[in-house]
Amino acid sequence: MRPATVPATGAAGAPAGAPVVLESPPEPVLAGPTEREWSAAVAAVLAQPRDAALLLICHVNPDGDALGSMLGFGQGLCRLGFTRVVCTFPGPPEVPEPFAALPGLELLVPEAQAPAEPALVLCFDAASESRLGGLRDRLDRSPSIVLDHHASNTRFGGVHLVDPTAAATSVVAEHLLARLGVPLDRDIAECLYVALATDTGSFKFDMTTPAVHELAARLLATGLAPAEIARRVFDTRPFGAVRLYGEALGRAQLDPTAAGGLGLVWTYATQADLARHGQRPYVLEGLIDAIRPAAEADVSCVIKQTGPAEWAVSLRSKGGVDVSRVAVALGGGGHRLAAGFTGRGTADEVAAAVRAQLATP
Ligand code: AMP
Ligand code: MN
Ligand code: MN
Repeated sequence: MRPATVPATGAAGAPAGAPVVLESPPEPVLAGPTEREWSAAVAAVLAQPRDAALLLICHVNPDGDALGSMLGFGQGLCRLGFTRVVCTFPGPPEVPEPFAALPGLELLVPEAQAPAEPALVLCFDAASESRLGGLRDRLDRSPSIVLDHHASNTRFGGVHLVDPTAAATSVVAEHLLARLGVPLDRDIAECLYVALATDTGSFKFDMTTPAVHELAARLLATGLAPAEIARRVFDTRPFGAVRLYGEALGRAQLDPTAAGGLGLVWTYATQADLARHGQRPYVLEGLIDAIRPAAEADVSCVIKQTGPAEWAVSLRSKGGVDVSRVAVALGGGGHRLAAGFTGRGTADEVAAAVRAQLATP
């Protein structure tokens, strides 16, 4: 229990001579961008000549928020009259099938074709430079604006538009577009909506505030077809992936004693599993949502092989555990209830590392 203290504001009322114990500072409230930061971002964009090279980048293995916020914002820059808007992300230039119909994909180029010294870099949904692969050097060479919503953001880059209270980076992107005077049209809205819907788990996660639904309403009002978008983004996968899910679910393990008794459910999928079913890695993105319903576990974990001894690890919590703490301790990042890291060794060793972190208070 907290010791009895005198709040700082009430100190004046303390009896004369009594020792004044100041209340310990509250948990750091990571506030959103300041007015100065918003203004700096607007100025940095509008200062550019309309034929300046503008490079938009997002994190490796881009998800709906990374792609949606980047492509939505890229189209907004085009509406402002910018003629050299280029979007890219590190790694193989493959867009996962659920996002292959996003408007604005014509702005996307492979990493190798991105301008070496753009006039301005805009970075989307990356908590740290380590998520930018070979593109991170652009941040050293050019002025930059970082749009993000991870509490673990390392504040790299030039102007920081980082709002940990935002449900998705697309919330930040929409706000900057509004400040730049770009009206929402259907194509921009579809990108921002996909970003919002994916990062809130279809408007189910705890950051799904009234403001999120208000933004969704404004996006839908441009004429979007939400059922069709949801079918494409969430509810479509190849039959081979359905069979692969069956295997991975069949070997899921439950450890009710993990995380001080809150419980852990976990499984893994190897590159050989993918090959056997003729599937691409992105199909495993939804696997975590297939194991997390297990009622006996607060924490769920999916370990996805990306190399001989390398794994992309997804962590989720139902509220009892801050999984970003676990992910950060293991070299990754993310949010309190959804985080990830790169694991090394065997799947069992990665799971053991997660269990060990969960056992650390
Ligand atoms: P995922 O499980 O891949 O959907 O990722 C969940 C969250 O964890 C996202 O917000 C990611 O930004 C974050 N995350 C996942 N993998 C990593 C990683 N290797 N490093 C840092 N953050 C990560
Ligand atoms: Mn992301
Ligand atoms: Mn995000």
